[in-house]
Amino acid sequence: MVYDVVIIGGGPAGLTAGIYVKRAMLNALLLEKMGVGGQIIVTDLVENFPGFLEISGGDLARKFEEHALKFGLEMKGMVEVSGIEDRGATKIVKTHEGDFETKTVIIATGTTPKKLGAKGELNLIGRGVSYCATCDGFFFRDKLCLGFRGGRNSRREGSRESDNQERKDKCALRNKNRRGFHICRTYSQHRICKCKKGRAWFYCSK
Ligand SMILES: Cc1cc2nc3c(=O)[nH]c(=O)nc-3n(C[C@H](O)[C@H](O)[C@H](O)COP(=O)(O)OP(=O)(O)OC[C@H]3O[C@@H](n4cnc5c(N)ncnc54)[C@H](O)[C@@H]3O)c2cc1C
Repeated sequence: MVYDVVIIGGGPAGLTAGIYVKRAMLNALLLEKMGVGGQIIVTDLVENFPGFLEISGGDLARKFEEHALKFGLEMKGMVEVSGIEDRGATKIVKTHEGDFETKTVIIATGTTPKKLGAKGELNLIGRGVSYCATCDGFFFRDKLCLGFRGGRNSRREGSRESDNQERKDKCALRNKNRRGFHICRTYSQHRICKCKKGRAWFYCSK
């Protein structure tokens, strides 16, 4: 069969697309390489989604899924898309479960935050380790935080969150040649250290 739409990725974006295409009466399939829900699944608490004063990421993801199912979206979890072949009028979406032919592909594969590689980091995601200052800065408003900031946007975003909340955050800046990380590792023997690099302060706690 030929689908009208195949959506790759079952995070908030893919599920939103699914709700829209099903309500437009299109024949659609959503493919997700893991469990449906995307990154929000690993979020402990979400407080910035209008309509929910607070909700766990897992519960929110389940609500997204229920919403898409209500309109009859066909979903396949644990199916990773490995390629797309463009045949003009249709596209072939390739997976280990077989190929799916469709007139349109929506790619909603999200992003994966770059990991620092610190010990215990993965176990603490959503429980103190965060990759989104806008999402989670508020939760740590009265805490001392160590921020690793990379590109210009995350640096600006993180600094804005810190300034707004008048926290005494510590900032480790990863510059182009990764000297920020280098400085932190070098000084990690000390409980707290600081050094100045350009306009940023680097602090590391053991
Ligand atoms: C710890 C944490 C806390 C967060 N807290 C908040 C918060 O409080 N508030 C907030 O607004 N946002 C928060 N976010 C951000 C939010 O989760 C993301 O902005 C949102 O999930 C992005 O949605 P998305 O659908 O674009 O991408 P994703 O959620 O990344 O979904 C993309 C999906 O595509 C799938 N995929 C990728 N490649 C393939 C492939 N080849 N084949 C099949 N499937 C594939 C992935 O498995 C994934 O499920 C948080 C994120 C994290 C990690």
